[in-house]
Amino acid sequence: MTRSGQEYLEALRDGREVWLDGERVKDVTAHPAFRATAGSFAGLFDLARDSPHAPDLVTGGVHRAYAVPRSYEDLVARRRAYKVWAEASYGFLGRTPDYMASGAAGFAAAPGVFTTERFDGAENALAFHRRLAEGGLHCAFTITDPACEGVRVVGERDGGIVVRGAKTIGTGAVFADEILVGTIEPLPEGEAERAVTFAVPVDTPGLKLVSRTSYEGNARSVFDQPLSSRYDENDALLVCDDVFVPWDRVLTYRDVAATAAMWWETPAYVNFVHQSATRFWTKLEFLAGLSILLARSNGTDTIPQVTQAIGRLLGMVAQAKAFVLGAEASHEPVDGGRGGVRPGQEISFAQRIMAGELYPRAVADIKLLAGGALIQTPASGRDLLHPELGPLVQRYVRTPGDPAEGRLKLLKLAWDALGSEFAGRHEQYERFYQGAPHVYLTMQTWAGAADACESLAQACLDGYDLGTTK
Ligand SMILES: Cc1cc2nc3c(=O)[nH]c(=O)nc-3n(C[C@H](O)[C@H](O)[C@H](O)COP(=O)(O)OP(=O)(O)OC[C@H]3O[C@@H](n4cnc5c(N)ncnc54)[C@H](O)[C@@H]3O)c2cc1C
Repeated sequence: MTRSGQEYLEALRDGREVWLDGERVKDVTAHPAFRATAGSFAGLFDLARDSPHAPDLVTGGVHRAYAVPRSYEDLVARRRAYKVWAEASYGFLGRTPDYMASGAAGFAAAPGVFTTERFDGAENALAFHRRLAEGGLHCAFTITDPACEGVRVVGERDGGIVVRGAKTIGTGAVFADEILVGTIEPLPEGEAERAVTFAVPVDTPGLKLVSRTSYEGNARSVFDQPLSSRYDENDALLVCDDVFVPWDRVLTYRDVAATAAMWWETPAYVNFVHQSATRFWTKLEFLAGLSILLARSNGTDTIPQVTQAIGRLLGMVAQAKAFVLGAEASHEPVDGGRGGVRPGQEISFAQRIMAGELYPRAVADIKLLAGGALIQTPASGRDLLHPELGPLVQRYVRTPGDPAEGRLKLLKLAWDALGSEFAGRHEQYERFYQGAPHVYLTMQTWAGAADACESLAQACLDGYDLGTTK
């Protein structure tokens, strides 16, 4: 049986060093900036342990995302599990525990990538996968360097290494059991001290998480900010202040090639995309649903242009879905693996381009449909309850098809999804969490079907010359 939400929450009360607004947070499960979102993560564990969804979510006593896929059917089963958890937050929790679980299963599918002349991290990578799977652990990761002083090795001590520096941006890190620290971008050969990957508990001495503004903390109520108040997964700067890492927690060490290869030459990265593409599809379903409800509430749903705008959004949903199904259908054997398969790389990589471009467009389209009503809402739902003001709000905020309370509820949900600070963070998330465009667009030039495309165009050119008649 997988662990319960309560067991997960208890594990978070471990003395971890989380900072917010110049203060050290004593307990993320009790603090008003974090507790409701911690509860949302806990709810995921309960879904897997004891709900009608459990058979979709669990196989062999562990979450399905930990199982190394061996067939197309396994990939489909994984996706069904991803979808259940994605729907639980309407796609707004990006880093649910199945995200890193899918990466860990990728490491386990091709552990040979961790064995090099400089360091053999294969056993540690397998142990990482086993530890997460058996404990049902939630692992965040920071694999992006800040503009200065990324994490680097500053020494070796009995039984391990000492690391110092920072990593950005640790999504979900304050809610995680462990954090994996590494570097996904290729490092220059001379920078071996930065070429290190390790996974440690979040309460490891010297490890600090500096949280950004908490949207949950700023939310007035669930009614007023239904998403910010419950699904603010947080992003934190990770600081390693001379953190000791035991050898058995080190996956790559002073090895520039292996530090990057663990993402690209195992299925870890495409597994990430499979999970996040499923979540993205779910989020677009939610947004398209919101647009339908908004148009109906505004009384514009039968206007042909509005119907067409909704049709475009539903087309985007189908596009997002097609990327998931296409990646599964184009699955490939894992190179150097042990009989595993991974979602097709070409389509998985291209999903990043589609999603990064589609999301801002979808948000802009729905804002256009919604109009000024998104802004002209009373500051809080409390206005509805006030004896003098309530009747006025009831009278003037309703539309012919929608009484005031339902309309306000919808508009506040829509603003939280589309225009709040939380929404702005989501737009930036969808654009960047899979890397910056200059990186993934360049990668597509070698991961895409360039040769086939070029030869098709060339075949056309070769099919005629100056003398060819019509
Ligand atoms: C909300 C959010 C959550 C995230 N969560 C995580 C996480 O959990 N873990 C993690 O490790 N990372 C996370 N990231 C970080 C993410 O991986 C990086 O933002 C991404 O890799 C881009 O790196 P960067 O932010 O340093 O942007 P940069 O690489 O600095 O790029 C920013 C912009 O600068 C310009 N630019 C920079 N260099 C070039 C170039 N060579 N050629 C052309 N243009 C260039 C482009 O306009 C580019 O869009 C998250 C990011 C966001 C926004």
